[in-house]
Amino acid sequence: MDTLSLEERGRILNRMTEIRFAKYGKSTSTEDLRRYRAEERELAQRYLEGLPRILVARCPSCGEPVHMTIDTFGLDGIWWHVFGPDRSPQACIHYRVTLGALDLQGHTPDEASARATFEIETGPEAPYVVPRLMEAPGARLVLHSLPIAEGRYRAYLMTYFADPPAPSSEGHQPWLRREFLYLDNGHESRKHCTDHWDFDLAHWLDRKPPVVAWLDQQGKLQWSTAEECPYLGAPARCKALLIRGGQVVEREPR
Ligand SMILES: [Zn+2]
Repeated sequence: MDTLSLEERGRILNRMTEIRFAKYGKSTSTEDLRRYRAEERELAQRYLEGLPRILVARCPSCGEPVHMTIDTFGLDGIWWHVFGPDRSPQACIHYRVTLGALDLQGHTPDEASARATFEIETGPEAPYVVPRLMEAPGARLVLHSLPIAEGRYRAYLMTYFADPPAPSSEGHQPWLRREFLYLDNGHESRKHCTDHWDFDLAHWLDRKPPVVAWLDQQGKLQWSTAEECPYLGAPARCKALLIRGGQVVEREPR
């Protein structure tokens, strides 16, 4: 499917909002409810399948690209919600998880007030490292950054790899989600991690041999020193942000 245009995405999200209100109307019959739910599922599928597919990292071991569908249009789509759709990319066996940060660059995310009824946990505004994930044997981290909402905001994506592959029970919930699923003796289990965030990227970039790379404009990995990394030094809040109905709530960083 082709990528959605801004207008088409707007039409889909407006209709989803209408349905959400209509579902709870006094005169809504069981038959109406069934029809609304079917339409809602169809709209959500069109929206998710039409989101831009973006190269966010490349595996440092096997070179396999990691693509994610991301709602780069704005924060008012269901992709952003804490209980939103599964965002895990198809990736190689070394891939662990993609974490993120969102710099609001001084803007108020008011587009999220009209449509978003769920909470969005964008994390801090600056990129960070989770030291625990870097303790795994052969752990490597790839940084990437992209504009959101035509550049009003800037997202930072931090994708972790391990070679040999690390056990899924030692993983971490992906960006924007509250928990992740893993297999525990064949049983599906859920976990919520509250690991410490280390904002001292320079310290990690200068490690020898290098363990942190960033994706350049050509989609290639750059293993440079902190001095050459474009993601350092941006003034941003290190507090975790929670966006509810367009309002921003700050929480202490982890
Ligand atoms: Zn790989």
